[in-house]
Amino acid sequence: MEVLDIHKFSTPIVVISKCLGFEPCRYDGKMIFCDIIDKILPFIDVLPVCPECEIGLGVPRAPIRLVNGKTIRLVQTGTEQDITEKMQNFVNDFLDSLPEIDGFILKSKSPSCGFGNTKVFAFSDASKPLHRYGIGFLAKGIMDRFPGLPYIDEMSLMSPQLQEEFFTKLFLMADFRLHHNSIQELMEFHRRNKLLLMAYDLNKLKILGRILADNKQHLFSENVTNYARIIQEMTSETLLRTNIINAFMHAFGYFSKRLEHSKRHYILDSIEAYRLGNLTLKELRQVMIPCIVEFQVDYLMEQTLFHPYPENLYFSAPETGKI
Ligand code: SF4
Repeated sequence: MEVLDIHKFSTPIVVISKCLGFEPCRYDGKMIFCDIIDKILPFIDVLPVCPECEIGLGVPRAPIRLVNGKTIRLVQTGTEQDITEKMQNFVNDFLDSLPEIDGFILKSKSPSCGFGNTKVFAFSDASKPLHRYGIGFLAKGIMDRFPGLPYIDEMSLMSPQLQEEFFTKLFLMADFRLHHNSIQELMEFHRRNKLLLMAYDLNKLKILGRILADNKQHLFSENVTNYARIIQEMTSETLLRTNIINAFMHAFGYFSKRLEHSKRHYILDSIEAYRLGNLTLKELRQVMIPCIVEFQVDYLMEQTLFHPYPENLYFSAPETGKI
């Protein structure tokens, strides 16, 4: 599609668990092969990390567990070594040392890397977990330190719906990181992402617009800080169908009067099918994009709402769920 080819994507910088295809560093000396991560590698810059290796636990090693005491502790089974402080210090130092980052992909269910699906035990040698929604130490550090950045684990990355959300946010963050060095860059960023930001939150989009309109009343650094804060607030929320439809209807208004009656109805029916969950967001884009190309609506052709991330990242798995 022509409209997709004209868009140059910024390359996101992503922290990834090292065992997800980079090194056999798991406790059992194995590595996890993850197709989706292989596919996205050409589009991202990667910072692989294995917290457990970094604190000197060897490979292979006795597994470690989250143990629920007064606070959550990290204890190695067998050796009973409590490595909570060591790991916490590593996490703090590692996060301090990071360059500007756009997102995180970590290994699920790990006491170091899991984003909320790790087993928590009453004792390190307990036979059954108390629950399975503990958060690994690195994951917790990331969630606390970077609440506005996208994160996901390799299991969630299998879900087309969660993929869509993650990649949309990831490439938006990379675009912002690389294009906020002058008010002109920020305005350009705002223009090409306007409909996508509208799909996140129309009211906050208006606040962003005011920051830019009133930019001369404040220092540029203050404008960037405020703009970044609002964007991160917006993208911390899930993209909702109703908001996406509003943004698509807004785009539709740019060319609807130039469409034949039957085509106009076809698009409106498609938007309704999307509202009912019978069409995916990707399918809805594919209905709209040919019209945008046909009528050469320049403003829409550059909108990231229609091409939020590189085309090759559109996976073929069926899409279900909210968006
Ligand atoms: S899950 Fe995290 S700590 Fe465990 S092997 Fe993978 S990268 Fe290392």
